[in-house]
Amino acid sequence: MSILVYISNVNGKIKKQSLELTSYASAMSKSTALDVCGVVIGDIEDSALDELGKYGMGKILKAVDAQFNNRVNRVYTRIVEQAARQLNAQYILFPDNNEGKAIAPRLSARMSAGFVPQVMGMPNSYEPFVVSKRAFTGKALARVEVQTKVKILSPMFNSFGLIEFPKELLIEAFTPEIDEPHSRLNIINRNLNEGTISLADAEIVVSGGRGMKSGEHFSMLEALSATLGGAVACSRPVADAGWRPADEHVGQTGKIIAPNIYFAIGISGAIQHVAGVSGAKCIVAINSDPEAPIFDVADYGMVGDAFKIVPELIEAFKAH
Ligand code: FAD
Repeated sequence: MSILVYISNVNGKIKKQSLELTSYASAMSKSTALDVCGVVIGDIEDSALDELGKYGMGKILKAVDAQFNNRVNRVYTRIVEQAARQLNAQYILFPDNNEGKAIAPRLSARMSAGFVPQVMGMPNSYEPFVVSKRAFTGKALARVEVQTKVKILSPMFNSFGLIEFPKELLIEAFTPEIDEPHSRLNIINRNLNEGTISLADAEIVVSGGRGMKSGEHFSMLEALSATLGGAVACSRPVADAGWRPADEHVGQTGKIIAPNIYFAIGISGAIQHVAGVSGAKCIVAINSDPEAPIFDVADYGMVGDAFKIVPELIEAFKAH
């Protein structure tokens, strides 16, 4: 019996989120004595998977076939289901991102397995199985009991951390039975630019709001983000105005992120925005209005004009 971790294959690489999920599964295995296994789909070199052993994965099934390189959710769901049945998985872990949100509920329906998204921290107990999850856009924690035999969880990124549990990793080829002809599959291309840090993976996020006045001024935030090795995000009105791509918008209706440092620049701090970043370890706010609500949730605040402060910050960070 096992704990199965869904490993995201991002253009032949794995991300920190998968390592953290593996650490989480390894910590669960200390209490359950279950094996930690994984499944990865699409072309990926064995060497790209080696690091999973460092975080406690003993075995991974690798479903490599050119037709699987583009994610088709219903096909991926069936591949994970077959892997889960082969490994007799009692728990199946997904990242709490768009990929997990697309596959986990489908799998939950196919396997009649209870699904808990947005899990915070380790399970509270195993018999009965109780785990805490974010509720009311992060304002509360709900304790949820799952009574089905197989349980599916999406722990939130950066809520657990990376802990090493060194193991020898066995990589096994896996050939799922997919009867659907390839031509009938909807292809969704995953064109992540090489070298770009995705918002979900970024440890530092530089985010701009309507106070940045226009899309062009975001070049300043891109420069700050590049200096710090982070990613750029924005508030919803910024995405609605087309100043930034829609997938950068964070908040209640956007992405929920938990970076180590979140810079909120020219962002008022509306409740719907803060709902997406309340898991950040440290919030740094820059706002010209000392009464802006963002200062109520910020760990560090700078009252002043972002157009003056941001270039000074870039120079200061470059100098160190
Ligand atoms: P504003 O509220 O206009 O704030 C701009 C800030 O910039 C102000 O505080 C101002 O003092 C400051 N500023 C101006 N000039 C400067 C300067 N030169 N230097 C420094 N600071 C300056 N919003 C989200 O972000 N995410 C969501 O997911 C989301 N979901 C929503 C869901 C619902 C159902 C609803 C009703 C709303 C939602 N909103 C969401 C919108 C939200 O309520 C706010 O309207 C929005 O977050 C405000 O964006 P903002 O802070 O960029 O703009």
